[in-house]
Amino acid sequence: MTDILTRLPQPKPGIMDIHAYVGGKSKIEGVAEPIKLSSNENALGCSALALAAYDEARAKLFRYPDGLASPLRSAVAAYHDLEPERLIFGNGSDEVFGMLNQTYLQPGDNIVTGEFGFLAYRISAQACQSEVRLAPEPELRVEIPRILELVDDRTRIVYISNPANPTGTWNTPEEIAYLRSELDPSVILVIDEAYAEFADEPTWETSFGLARAHDNIVVTRTFSKIHGLAGLRVGFGYAPIGMIEAMERMRMPFNINLPAQYAAAAALQDQAHIDASRQQVLNWRPRLIQEIRALGYRVERSAGNFLLIHFDSEQVASDANDHLMREGILIRWVKNYGLPQALRVTVGKDDENRAFLEALARFKA
Ligand code: PMP
Repeated sequence: MTDILTRLPQPKPGIMDIHAYVGGKSKIEGVAEPIKLSSNENALGCSALALAAYDEARAKLFRYPDGLASPLRSAVAAYHDLEPERLIFGNGSDEVFGMLNQTYLQPGDNIVTGEFGFLAYRISAQACQSEVRLAPEPELRVEIPRILELVDDRTRIVYISNPANPTGTWNTPEEIAYLRSELDPSVILVIDEAYAEFADEPTWETSFGLARAHDNIVVTRTFSKIHGLAGLRVGFGYAPIGMIEAMERMRMPFNINLPAQYAAAAALQDQAHIDASRQQVLNWRPRLIQEIRALGYRVERSAGNFLLIHFDSEQVASDANDHLMREGILIRWVKNYGLPQALRVTVGKDDENRAFLEALARFKA
């Protein structure tokens, strides 16, 4: 018997230590249409132009998509004023992190990120038998000196999400520039800007400029948030040519499917929708913060389309989560991010935000 068991296919060392990624909940038993504020999606949905382009793609579904996502590449390059040959597209920015890890990590290497950093950075790093080093975030924000303390000669990649999920905090351009200047040029610095469009603080800036000027910086963006296309899975990285050439060897053929290429390119043509999506968050974020604080909870300032709310204990956070679910509202208990006393709520549509505030007001710890 033991003999048979040991002969069964065994995963590589480390695979069974990985915590599989679990997305925000999308269902509540017995509730037909819950208010879903659990995954930092776009409350306004996607652009009508993106939907029309998606429909147009139907007639082409029997064809393979453009392997290099050429029309989408041109559209992104023009929109963000980036060199098209310095872009790599992924099935969500998640896949870009995966390609980075697979291209650069060997067993025994390490990546460094913040304690509450986005979980997707870690998964493929562990699969590459590399160590994941987490820098403490006592103030719930990435502290550059603590990142640097963990960097050694086996560090290949440092991941910073800016703004960060789930904390909503951000790092200043000076901090990012300092981090870069302290890293050996052989270490890759990835700045994940999934929430860039929602950051309106004067102390936040995109790192595209820094990436243009240096050979070890990668900036990632996604169509899942501001463009409301989370379901299509499109993200991209802006990286030095040499890195793109290496990562292209790891990219799965045709990884961006045809409707996704059509819809994402069209989304960039709809500036009115982009502006409205951003404005929805900018209008509601301060109002939600104020009202949640008025209910007696600590809530962080946030540069993303979500807020982090703190409760007195893990039990109270869990009870509040259950209470909101009973009221038909899904938010995210961020226990698996290492924040068991906190819940993360995405900014929703007007009526959804009001319903959330009313339901939270009815919660009794
Ligand atoms: N980075 C951060 C910080 C995120 O929160 C998310 C989405 N939850 C992503 C990247 C992944 O985005 P995508 O949908 O493009 O894979």
